[in-house]
Amino acid sequence: MTSDLLARRARLMGPNVPTFYDDPVEIVRGEGVWLWDAEGRRYLDCYNNVAHLGHCHPKVVEAIAAQAATLNTHTRYLHRGILDYIERLTGKFGHDLSQAIMVCTGSEANDVALRMAQAVTGKTGLIATDNTYHGNTTAVAHLSTRRPPIGGYPGHVRRVPAPDSLAPLGGSLAAQAQAFAAGVARAIEELEAAGHGFAGLMLCPIFANEGTPGVGPGFMAPTVEVVRRAGGLILCDEVQPGFGRVGAAWWGHELIGFAPDVVTLGKPMANGHPVGAVVTRPDVMAAFREAFGYFNTFGGNPVSCAAALATLEVIEDEGLVENAREVGAYALEMMRGLHHPLIADTRGFGLFFGIEFAREGAPQSDFCGRVVEAAKARGILLGRVGRAQHILKMRPPMPFSRENAEMLVETLDAILREMPA
Ligand code: PMP
Repeated sequence: MTSDLLARRARLMGPNVPTFYDDPVEIVRGEGVWLWDAEGRRYLDCYNNVAHLGHCHPKVVEAIAAQAATLNTHTRYLHRGILDYIERLTGKFGHDLSQAIMVCTGSEANDVALRMAQAVTGKTGLIATDNTYHGNTTAVAHLSTRRPPIGGYPGHVRRVPAPDSLAPLGGSLAAQAQAFAAGVARAIEELEAAGHGFAGLMLCPIFANEGTPGVGPGFMAPTVEVVRRAGGLILCDEVQPGFGRVGAAWWGHELIGFAPDVVTLGKPMANGHPVGAVVTRPDVMAAFREAFGYFNTFGGNPVSCAAALATLEVIEDEGLVENAREVGAYALEMMRGLHHPLIADTRGFGLFFGIEFAREGAPQSDFCGRVVEAAKARGILLGRVGRAQHILKMRPPMPFSRENAEMLVETLDAILREMPA
């Protein structure tokens, strides 16, 4: 019973533990793009970017089992698995991003990235957008805006208005690109005036947690110029767009067309096994190692590397980036055919979509929430995002088929027809 589980959670884990949906689901099994609950109901998973290859992909399951049966230990012994993986991973990057640190979560990866910027510049000032999430270490939580830190944001952290189809930025993307860069320039001046100096700007290249506002190639050019002029680093959080999700490229920064100094990775990296990484240039790595050394007991352990390597191979062998591009384009075209007076915008990159609900510039958060609940009732799992949680967020596993896309869009169509504005 769901209510028993909720009561047990509260008793054992404390209050306010996040769940999805008014009536949370107990998921007991997954396979491919499908999930099953404890009552045997099947759901089409349209939200999960952790099960990148589909749930329980046999090649990853096999790789984990074989390595776990052979050796798993901490990371101070020499082991070829981590080297084989880093070689394959960094082979996917340009811009001399040829070295990596393995960690266990996106939060840790971002924490390391912040320290890299500080090691290279000798400064402490950090900039992020005003509507984002980069993880939950204390340092990284200072860049996340959902729950302000006790005592307020520290002086070395500045938040700049994120690109957004609605206020405070709004307007054309070209104008937003200039406004975003101007915000970063102002924040740098403030950090310098306050004596912190400027170390780095952390952002997701497609602003996924901000609501995926549809930024395209060239958006970052004015901002990159501002950051470079000030001598700071660009720290690119690819936890959501990475590993081919955006279809047209392996990485979000490639799609948008800029060269970060540091890239952080997580969620989809090992298809559900907790693996993250920080990829950077040798000069940045040298400065970081000099300043901090760094040891991570579990980061890059043999089982994690086997899972991550199998994941990378399956993305290539099954042509999943191409699939994201093709099925993504097909699904987006169908989504753009959905009609409802509250649909303000429909956008996407590869297998990452957003449908924004607004009325005359006012976000329609409740409406969006009702669509998510109605979809769940019809066997489709979706999420929401945006300043007011008014944007449907869809990010299915990468083997999502045309048939799956048709099921998703037909279900949304049926739901929207029954929901008056
Ligand atoms: N960065 C981004 C953009 C994320 O969305 C998240 C997780 N939602 C994180 C970092 C943190 O990753 P983790 O939960 O693995 O620490």
